[in-house]
Amino acid sequence: MRYLVITDIHANLEALDVVLADAAVRGYDRTLVLGDIVGYGPDPNAVIERVTGLQPYALVRGNHDKIAFGLDQAEGFNVSARAAAEWTLNALTPAHRDWLINLPKGPTVVDDCVEICHGSPYDEDEYIFDELDARRAIDSARQRLCLFGHTHVAMVFRLAGRSIGFVELTGTRIALDADAKYLVNPGSVGQPRDSDPRAAYAIFDAGTRQLEMYRLEYPIEHTQQKMVTAGLPEPLVRRLAAGR
Ligand code: ZN
Repeated sequence: MRYLVITDIHANLEALDVVLADAAVRGYDRTLVLGDIVGYGPDPNAVIERVTGLQPYALVRGNHDKIAFGLDQAEGFNVSARAAAEWTLNALTPAHRDWLINLPKGPTVVDDCVEICHGSPYDEDEYIFDELDARRAIDSARQRLCLFGHTHVAMVFRLAGRSIGFVELTGTRIALDADAKYLVNPGSVGQPRDSDPRAAYAIFDAGTRQLEMYRLEYPIEHTQQKMVTAGLPEPLVRRLAAGR
């Protein structure tokens, strides 16, 4: 069983299409979507159509998807994020807004090895950046592999015995030990923030216990042009090229 893992697409159609084309070549059986399908980007409706077309095996909502409930969900957002949330709410078709409202809250158990969440398994809106965050998250995870998003930073934590640490992301493939627990963020499809502007995604092969982490170039200028035309905030346009 090969799982395609995508998160934080953020209405970036160009990035999503490049990811889906690459994943199709590599092959996968089931799609897992970890939330933040919309927000920031210029194509919320088209991206929702792509995602529903994939018929995801499991999918959880992100904090930006909750904007479909109303603008009060944007309370903790900064000025740009809030403006983008307002824009998104106006752009969404009624059917897509309903679809977002009905997205399930994580965490969701996928199989006897894998679970997914947006922020962390104990709180969908919590951020996991360091070992301390990871410790709390991994302790509350029900499965050996917990896939998360929200930070837009690709990272892998490994818990063996009581010791937790980062797994260095050097190559694209990581072999997961059967007796360790893992917390994995594939990185963001549509708005990476780890100083690498390329679209990020992962494939987990449950049969071989191999995790594959990929980064792909996509036509960023095209997305940026659409954002300018839509009147989305300038800082959001710039950050795509910076990858932060
Ligand atoms: Zn996000």
